[in-house]
Amino acid sequence: MNVVQTPSITPPPSIYFVLPCYNEAEGLTQTADALSAKVVYLTSTKQISSGSRILFVDDGSKDTTWQIIQTLHERNRHLFGGVKLSHNRGHQNALLAGLMTAREHGCDAAISMDADLQDDVNAIDEFIEKFRSGNEIVYGVRSARKKDTWFKRTTAETFYKIFEWMGAETIPDHADYRLMSREALDALSEYHEVNLFLRGIVPTLGYQTSKVYYERGKRAAGESKYPLKKMIFFAIQGITSFSTKPLSFVTGAGLLSILIAFGMFIYVLASLGFGHTITGWGSMMISIWLIGGLIMLSLGVVGEYVGKIYMESKHRPRYRIETTL
Ligand code: UDP
Ligand code: MG
Repeated sequence: MNVVQTPSITPPPSIYFVLPCYNEAEGLTQTADALSAKVVYLTSTKQISSGSRILFVDDGSKDTTWQIIQTLHERNRHLFGGVKLSHNRGHQNALLAGLMTAREHGCDAAISMDADLQDDVNAIDEFIEKFRSGNEIVYGVRSARKKDTWFKRTTAETFYKIFEWMGAETIPDHADYRLMSREALDALSEYHEVNLFLRGIVPTLGYQTSKVYYERGKRAAGESKYPLKKMIFFAIQGITSFSTKPLSFVTGAGLLSILIAFGMFIYVLASLGFGHTITGWGSMMISIWLIGGLIMLSLGVVGEYVGKIYMESKHRPRYRIETTL
């Protein structure tokens, strides 16, 4: 008797690939070629539907990124789409703009990835497989970061340790190479915070998830758009948007310095009682500076949160799309 193979019941899903681009003119065509070859293959093998798209988000680039996106769109209107933000709003906001556009266009799932080919396109098959077997979110996790500099690796590792220690949930070695189902995107759209840190928010959505391991390659072209200054701001953003523990540390430090001051007071009194003159001008100055520093640090941390409250209370739109192709 012949065994009839039942075809997959679920039709192939439409997948939107979302790529935020900031001054990526140098390597964008190469990325588009590599990714479109993959999409064509996945479509022809019926793993994804022909309604799948590659969506570039131009995050206010100053070079010819947008012109390249337009050229790609002209080349294949069906496959390449573009969204142009009015000005540079940062990686996270650009990503959100792309994901929400994909959602509005009715995708079944969206995969976010860097525009520099660092996120291996060969891992996409596994993302799709995991999605089709019921996972709403699939995280791309770097199995090796040999190609990143020692500095980048160490700072990233330290950041994730601190982030976890602060009580936030995180997926180690996962950046923003990720698949999110339409349902997960719907849930994400309910988050209205301005201080956006997607890799912290997504694990809190509460869906069935899975991981895909890949080797993170070198940038195909151009320079990293995350210089040290931006990386530090990103880390502060990540921590302050998820934890108020720094505030507790400040309270603790304040209490400790009061205790030290109290100890010193007793010491001074006792010295006077024994008839010693106080010669410790140096230590006095150090204490003043130390306490002054602690106060300023505390004010700084408090100010950080107050600033965030101020920004959130404005409920400003996080981006404005100028043109959609
Ligand atoms: N990016 C962006 N807006 C920015 C900075 C970066 O859209 O203000 C994009 C960038 O074009 C890239 C992705 O975000 O596609 C990640 O940036 P990058 O590759 O420079 O970061 P790295 O991989 O070095 O951490
Ligand atoms: Mg990159």
